[in-house]
Amino acid sequence: FFNTRRLNVQLMLDWLHLKFVGAEHCGLDDARNIARILIEMLKRPDGHCTVLHINDGLAPHLATSHPFSRPSQARATLPSTVCGVDYFLILDFEATCVDPPNHSFQREIIEFPTVVLNTQTMEIETTDEFHVFVKPDLNPVLTPFCTTLTGITQAQVDSGVSLKTALEMHREWMIRRGFITDQYPVTPKARFAFVTCGDWDLEVCLPTEMLNKPGLQCPPYLVHGWLNIKKIFKARYGIGVSGMGSMLKQLNLVPEGRPHSGLHDSRNIARIVKKMVQEGLKAYPWTTK
Ligand code: AMP
Ligand code: MG
Ligand code: MG
Repeated sequence: FFNTRRLNVQLMLDWLHLKFVGAEHCGLDDARNIARILIEMLKRPDGHCTVLHINDGLAPHLATSHPFSRPSQARATLPSTVCGVDYFLILDFEATCVDPPNHSFQREIIEFPTVVLNTQTMEIETTDEFHVFVKPDLNPVLTPFCTTLTGITQAQVDSGVSLKTALEMHREWMIRRGFITDQYPVTPKARFAFVTCGDWDLEVCLPTEMLNKPGLQCPPYLVHGWLNIKKIFKARYGIGVSGMGSMLKQLNLVPEGRPHSGLHDSRNIARIVKKMVQEGLKAYPWTTK
């Protein structure tokens, strides 16, 4: 898509077949053109832009320069949302591991959950979460260390699905839940943002495994951008945190479930997001690749 490090407003406009509107080097006009780029990207059914975070106050400005977004339309199609999203989708992978850590050991995902925080109801929707165990193929036998750490048993991964199947099931779940449509590759239907605790899950773990296993296709919504709750926590409270435990503590939340269970970790991260939204979180740094 935008596979260049030297991307600027003009290049993006060219790529989208849009003309620069207004005066160059005018901050307000630049900002309006960036907004037009965002709107155009959101209209394209290629799934690369999954979240709209637009300040309502900006819509009237856009309306004057964008032929497709008159104020009434802009407001009708872009209702204000909590933090710009309808759903936070919280994901925390568990993977094979050895003790002591060994860099040449190729780690594989063994637990793949996604927990939903609905920002309209502010409920963590436990009734239709995504959760599968994944069978590793490079190292199919879990180390005792891994089982002790994660609580995941050999029997659970033995009866798990392949990563390919897990990704397909995840996509079907995303469609069933109404987050995306079934058009190829992906068209966002709701505004959602994936949330992880750290960048490892979506920046390292999944992409590395995809690279090592040809034939796997990673859905755009899992690699193009996500929210790292640790960065958001730092930005919001000015406190750098090492992990989930310290965020829970700072927010006076008691950890629930089993530590290093992907599902329970995801639910605890969801509780952190919920508490932060309740404490007034409005905007956040976004991690993109
Ligand atoms: P987490 O989400 O923190 O539960 O960790 C994700 C994965 O990182 C785990 O499934 C392990 O593969 C690895 N991991 C986490 N903590 C440790 C640890 N203390 N020692 C070795 N590997 C770990
Ligand atoms: Mg984790
Ligand atoms: Mg975990």
